[in-house]
Amino acid sequence: MKPIAKSSKLENVGYDIRGPVLDKARQMEDEGQKIIKLNIGNVAAFGLMPPDEIIQDMIRNLPEAAGYTDSKGLFAPRKAVVHYCQEKGIKGVTVDDVYLGNGASELIAFSMNALLDAGDEVLIPSPDYPLYTAVVSLSGGTPVHYRCDEGSGWLPDLDDMRAKITPHTKALVIINPNNPTGALYPDEVLRGIVELARQHGLIVFADEIYDKTLYDGATHTSIASLAEDVVFLTFNGLSKNYRSCGYRSGWMVVSGDKKRAKDYIEGLNMLASMRLCANTPGQLAIQTALGGYQSIKDLVAPGGRLARQRDLAYDLLTQIPGVSVVKPKAALYMFPRLDPKMYPIADDQQFAYDLLAQEKVLIVQGTGFNWPDHDHFRVVFLPNTDDLTEAIGRIARFLDGYRKR
Ligand code: PLP
Repeated sequence: MKPIAKSSKLENVGYDIRGPVLDKARQMEDEGQKIIKLNIGNVAAFGLMPPDEIIQDMIRNLPEAAGYTDSKGLFAPRKAVVHYCQEKGIKGVTVDDVYLGNGASELIAFSMNALLDAGDEVLIPSPDYPLYTAVVSLSGGTPVHYRCDEGSGWLPDLDDMRAKITPHTKALVIINPNNPTGALYPDEVLRGIVELARQHGLIVFADEIYDKTLYDGATHTSIASLAEDVVFLTFNGLSKNYRSCGYRSGWMVVSGDKKRAKDYIEGLNMLASMRLCANTPGQLAIQTALGGYQSIKDLVAPGGRLARQRDLAYDLLTQIPGVSVVKPKAALYMFPRLDPKMYPIADDQQFAYDLLAQEKVLIVQGTGFNWPDHDHFRVVFLPNTDDLTEAIGRIARFLDGYRKR
């Protein structure tokens, strides 16, 4: 009989954060080896637990939360999101503009699906959070990457963005605060992006899932607060700021020139209906999270656990010869550069694989984030300081051996 092949729609779809190197790590773990994981932003897995009030809320609500809800979600948590938009200065948002999802991921996927036809282009950052490149491809669209500039602290290169706009460009994606670089975009950069979107009639997809994970007293501006005449879809959720990624709870807000997007919004509503609704206990946790004690502030404040881990990882990595790092201003990641003269890496997936095999440290290679060159990797600074010290010590040893090869 004919072998069963996967759909050709998957041709350009990849997600290396859970790719072949992770498969090897799993196999090593099954054999009883202990691996230090710097590969994934699975916050609670590192002992950074959700606020207790969210856990208690999930437990208390469970018996009453067995039914489906409205496809966009329950009224009260959507109202809480409306209030959050008000706090962030996003104007004109009503409950009708808020969609709750099984994490932001589901909403990102169906918002691209509802928009794109074959040949439509979407501008996506490079490096990116790879879900965007994958879902644009899966939706039949074409991902076009604009460069973020390491020299300017990984800010989007607006000239490159502008140069890549064609008559087929429908939307642009920004991830702010950024995964994998930890960049936080200043208002003047956001205004430049809004201006490009305005001139070319592009929808702005704004991923703001790390908007409260900010260091050094920084503040975050929602790009959707900067204009009312551009269409924005803003994504957020409980996974990171509230350390609840397993509860699969996120939201999407449509704002700005909604009249222009009337037909698109019908498409969004249709796709929301087709998947019935987001999980009900996760929806119910949103109100408690947004209205409760914002314990993330304690973790990111000077001396807080995340701030200490960021500082340590930065200090240790930058002490390794030929490694440079832009210090993250936000989120949970850094994206170190390996000087290609010292580390001429032909295949960075093989590099990650060799590091895992030799030193039992798991990272994700830069090309996994649609970065074109084999000269970066991503580190998640969620492990505690002992594990980070051990892991980065092993990376240093591996790189020392690499240089002497
Ligand atoms: N967006 C970004 C930038 C992320 O880094 C992640 C997860 O790492 C997600 C979205 C996924 O969020 P969720 O857990 O809400 O699906």
